[in-house]
Amino acid sequence: MSTADVRKDWDTYFMDIAYMVSTRSRCSRRHVGAVLVQGKKLLGTAYNGAPMGVPDCSEAGCMISEEYELVVTDGQEEMVKKQRCIRTIHAEQNLLLFTDRIDREGSSVYVTDEPCWTCSNMLANSGITEIVFHRPYPKDTGKVTNMMKQKGITFRRLEHYQPPRETMMTVSD
Ligand SMILES: [Zn+2]
Ligand SMILES: [Zn+2]
Repeated sequence: MSTADVRKDWDTYFMDIAYMVSTRSRCSRRHVGAVLVQGKKLLGTAYNGAPMGVPDCSEAGCMISEEYELVVTDGQEEMVKKQRCIRTIHAEQNLLLFTDRIDREGSSVYVTDEPCWTCSNMLANSGITEIVFHRPYPKDTGKVTNMMKQKGITFRRLEHYQPPRETMMTVSD
């Protein structure tokens, strides 16, 4: 087996776990799972959700925030309205809350969705040196990719990855 084959297997393994974790999320807009990996060892799992003991999106509805952002497409500047659910703590942020700095030094994060700007900023300062994601998040990808490059963090998308079928169902529990 070549090195590339081995690498692909571990990528699938850890991304599958991230997808399994994401099924715990109760935000109807987005189910995100993230796992922390040091070497080949799983050190933490997290999904997006309201703080413990506080009503979540399935009980209280999503808390939608709208903001305008300047977007440049082919040299044309345009103000675009963007919506986000701000009720939840994002999976990546929960992962940082529930893991230790010393465990994160030189580690990788596998996350089902490309991190937003705020999560990327926090991950960049967390000791993590690699971020692997599956679904793109075009809202923030330009500035996020640029920042990862500046910071020297490996930032890669698993383009040909297929999530486990059972993680694609709607979560009611
Ligand atoms: Zn929500
Ligand atoms: Zn985020």
